[in-house]
Amino acid sequence: TVTLRNIRKSFGTTEVLKGVSLDIADGEFVSLVGPSGCGKSTLLKILAGLEPQNSGDVAIGGRVVNHIRPSRRDLAMVFQSYALYPHLTVEENLMVPLKLRRLNRMERLPGLGHLMPGRRQKMHRIRAVVEETTETLKIGDLLARKPGQLSGGQRQRVAVGRAMVRKPVAFLMDEPLSNLDAALRVHMRAEIAELHRDLATTFVYVTHDQAEALTMSDRIAVMMDGEVLQFASPDEVYHDPADLRVAQFIGSPK
Ligand code: ATP
Ligand code: MG
Repeated sequence: TVTLRNIRKSFGTTEVLKGVSLDIADGEFVSLVGPSGCGKSTLLKILAGLEPQNSGDVAIGGRVVNHIRPSRRDLAMVFQSYALYPHLTVEENLMVPLKLRRLNRMERLPGLGHLMPGRRQKMHRIRAVVEETTETLKIGDLLARKPGQLSGGQRQRVAVGRAMVRKPVAFLMDEPLSNLDAALRVHMRAEIAELHRDLATTFVYVTHDQAEALTMSDRIAVMMDGEVLQFASPDEVYHDPADLRVAQFIGSPK
């Protein structure tokens, strides 16, 4: 489970999150929707540990992680501007998080280096994870290319892949499809839904696109002015909105 309890956040004198609470079940696909500036990205960054909250708790798997740094929260972030390393191939991009993690573990255990499996064995395991990931995402034929030689959708898939290799507890995605053209967006939407089915991992997905949220989510959190107005199934949000603001937002074309 991923739990946000009474999260408050101000920038200067402006309070942008006014006590947000959400309880997200294991494997659930949750979308955060709401008008520009309502606090979606800020909430996601707080969940990831990239931005500190002023008060309230973030818990992952029942453990409060307020003071746990981002890399130790076992979450995978995919942002709109997917930052792949331009000078590395797709395969090398996918290996980076795995190599980093091994390094960290060795650093934490000084003197125990001799217990680490051999370098060749390590590479073998890393290759196996990369292979499994590229199979799932159907990017096996792109491994030797560099990001500059990929389409937007392919780059997006590699970015998802790079998040996947670490086997995160949850995926956090902030408008991951907003750079793509309409046709590709529809296609990638289906792929992310399939990925969610395959991995059975929790997704917290920020989108401007009501249709996207309605078709992909188990539940939708409708935010406005730093508050969650309704957190319910797409059916409920659509047919039984909590108030007029929810109805107007969900009903309005983007
Ligand atoms: P969008 O849909 O446009 O991405 P959002 O819902 O993601 O919007 P946030 O990025 O969370 O909105 O921003 C919420 C509010 O906090 C906005 O008014 C924004 O200007 C403000 N804000 C965000 N980050 C900062 C910052 N680092 N310093 C000051 N104000 C900020
Ligand atoms: Mg945002």
